[in-house]
Amino acid sequence: MNLNINIYIENFLNILLPRRCVSCGNYLFKNEKNICMNCIRKIPSPDITNDYNVVKDRFAGKFLIQTASSLFVYDKNSKYSYLLYSLKYHGRKDLALFFGTLLVQKLPKGFFNSVDCIVPVPLHSKRFQERGYNQAEQFANGISKLINKPVITNLLIRNIYTNTQTKKSRHDRWKNVEGKFSLNNHLNLFPKHILLVDDVITTGSTMEACLCELSKIDNIQFSVASIAIA
Ligand SMILES: [Zn+2]
Repeated sequence: MNLNINIYIENFLNILLPRRCVSCGNYLFKNEKNICMNCIRKIPSPDITNDYNVVKDRFAGKFLIQTASSLFVYDKNSKYSYLLYSLKYHGRKDLALFFGTLLVQKLPKGFFNSVDCIVPVPLHSKRFQERGYNQAEQFANGISKLINKPVITNLLIRNIYTNTQTKKSRHDRWKNVEGKFSLNNHLNLFPKHILLVDDVITTGSTMEACLCELSKIDNIQFSVASIAIA
């Protein structure tokens, strides 16, 4: 009975306030959430075939990465990239969670099977307070929902509050992340295979700084995932 009432209310709201695709603006069908099927089909996914994985390649020669994936390739003129801005600055944390579930759905079954926990790149506590949420953590929650692995938010600590990294050179970015993170040694956790996640991978320097700290855990293995790769 309650279910029927909910469906009735949902249909009624849909007539009053039609939901639109956040990407193309077209009306959504009842079974669609946030993005229409047409836009999902056209998502510019990166090449992660067995021979060549563009996401893994970003860390080549620095860290051994087991599996790596991003939902889409960042292009500043693309409507998908605008979504990234939305989830960071327009409070659309629900979108980050949705992207997490979408990534798992788009990957081959069991892609993250060997992972035992998910660690989002943390925000500085001051930034977290300003924004009210960490988009990487929301993305991690979306992945976790489908692969049933825990999200650990306090394994890494972000030490330095910095301004956003836009318009910085590669060298500046690297300088900017030195000493930025530290491993929380007070946790009695012994993960074996961490899936490190962030919203965007650009040079990879932020994730590398995290991987560097996480490498202090004995016999640890890594996989990485992001919403976008630039
Ligand atoms: Zn659409």
